[in-house]
Amino acid sequence: MALQPDSHAGETFDYVIVGSGAAGSVLSARLTEDPDVTVCVLESGPPDRHPFIHVPGGFIKMLFNPTYTWQFKTEPGEGTAGRQILTTQGRTLGGSSSINGMIYNRGQRADFDHWAQRGNRGWGYVDVLPYFKRTERRIGLADERIHGRNGALPVTDIDWIHPVCEAFIAGAVGAGLPRCADYNSGDHQEGVGYFQRAIYRGWRHSAARVFLHPARASGRLDVRTDARAAQVLFHGKRAVGVRYVDDRDRTIQREVRARCEVILSCGTVNTAKLLQISGVGPAALLQSLGVTVVADLPAGENFRDHYAARMVARVKNVRTINEMSHGLGLAGQIARWAMGRPSILALSPSLVHWFWKSEEALDFPDLQGVFSPASYKQGFVGLLDDYPGMTCGVWQHRPESIGYVRARSADLFEDPAIQPNYLADPIDRHVLIAGMRLARKLLHTPELTPYFDGDALPGTEVQSDDELLDYARQYGSTAYHLIGTARMGPATDRTAVVDDQLRVHGLAGLRVVDASIMPSMPSANTYCSTLMIAEKAADMIRGRPPLAPVEGIAA
Ligand SMILES: Cc1cc2nc3c(=O)[nH]c(=O)nc-3n(C[C@H](O)[C@H](O)[C@H](O)COP(=O)(O)OP(=O)(O)OC[C@H]3O[C@@H](n4cnc5c(N)ncnc54)[C@H](O)[C@@H]3O)c2cc1C
Repeated sequence: MALQPDSHAGETFDYVIVGSGAAGSVLSARLTEDPDVTVCVLESGPPDRHPFIHVPGGFIKMLFNPTYTWQFKTEPGEGTAGRQILTTQGRTLGGSSSINGMIYNRGQRADFDHWAQRGNRGWGYVDVLPYFKRTERRIGLADERIHGRNGALPVTDIDWIHPVCEAFIAGAVGAGLPRCADYNSGDHQEGVGYFQRAIYRGWRHSAARVFLHPARASGRLDVRTDARAAQVLFHGKRAVGVRYVDDRDRTIQREVRARCEVILSCGTVNTAKLLQISGVGPAALLQSLGVTVVADLPAGENFRDHYAARMVARVKNVRTINEMSHGLGLAGQIARWAMGRPSILALSPSLVHWFWKSEEALDFPDLQGVFSPASYKQGFVGLLDDYPGMTCGVWQHRPESIGYVRARSADLFEDPAIQPNYLADPIDRHVLIAGMRLARKLLHTPELTPYFDGDALPGTEVQSDDELLDYARQYGSTAYHLIGTARMGPATDRTAVVDDQLRVHGLAGLRVVDASIMPSMPSANTYCSTLMIAEKAADMIRGRPPLAPVEGIAA
């Protein structure tokens, strides 16, 4: 069907998707597979043409680029010693998948079983596994009951082997962690090994690259960049369209109408804010903003994130990424990358994973650790140290602390208040301290001794629980895994915003499909779970039966 301008109400499409990030890109591709369907995607950011988006090593530069990112800052809190944390999010085609760390990490079986146990039918592990597989094109060894071979997203193993990584892994194994064959198996996450990544032949493969751009060939997908959604338009309790502002000339406003549905895929912060300034949120908050209440729902509450502490040591006897990243070293790495050879330009920021338990008695890991032969200057994520360094970071898998995202005003251009309440819950403090002790132990193994040149951060004077906690508060930071502000749950769940079909409770024609719907934090980074959510939502929206559950894989 050709795109039809509607003389009464701007242009009309079957679906209007707000946000072209991880979820928006998958939806765009799937919905336009149907030959009669038209889709308009509104993306606040510019096209994804910047070369540092596509070269994996450009990650560090893009993190601070205000054109291609939302430079959000959290509210100060006790858990961060009163600091505000820079919480960058992607703002271009592909959203955060165009600037993220490219790690492919699904989580544990129990994560999704827990979603189902909260009353979300069809979201248990056996139900979501086929959707993980559908997005994935696993390259390399894999159990094909668990991994996909025919999806759009290439998932590869590392091709750059560094002696410090090898020694770290050997040391962790010596310390009692198993060498993990496949942390994405769902059932055997515990152990140590290399990350799987969305990097292929030296390039980042963002959601825009693998889903959105190819879908444009259909001619039924209208992608509008620099188009910032300002308001969901309602007719009574039905969403009928979106008003948006041209982000290059903010005096220009337009509307697009949706025959079938409006779908919000703006990410955890912006989806919450857009819902609120459109009249969907806690009534008291909306009234304080002067916004007419369309639905009194807890949009913006139940925010969660991973809070990471990083332990840094100096390195001797070998060059680390710190020295390879400037001068002649960098020139050599660029040449290697251009020739298609292993190079630091084609790396994810974290190379090695470890998943382990804060208490022996636990059945499953509650800690995620990351390791790289590189280190950032104290307090400056993104700025490499002048000395050879290595970093072992750690965070708690499933934080109890709950925060919020609340619009400060009805002004579209004012950032909302983001209060993660990091470390507010005593369990979170306990688990993180145990994780930091373990991270330190893993930097002090006999196998790493040939390269270990002393603790840099924190120094050896930091020993007691209180000192470690103080270090985490002073220097910890986000892991960028924001979730939960449009929580999925049944209508009886007073914390829920959407039902298990991702429809906003009490409204028609409006779904939320992005990381904000996650009812609880998966034991993982959040990118591929967001792709899975969008794959599943696409079937719901198209009225297709869900993919058959993948049963029979040993728990
Ligand atoms: C720096 C960083 C590193 C990360 N590293 C990893 C990693 O290594 N592995 C992993 O699994 N996860 C990682 N993540 C998390 C992962 O990228 C996210 O969970 C995932 O991208 C969330 O997808 P989404 O669709 O919810 O939102 P996004 O991908 O953020 O997309 C939202 C899109 O909506 C657009 N938008 C917002 N508001 C509006 C509006 N009003 N109008 C129009 N458009 C709008 C945004 O510009 C953006 O393009 C990282 C995230 C970041 C930021």
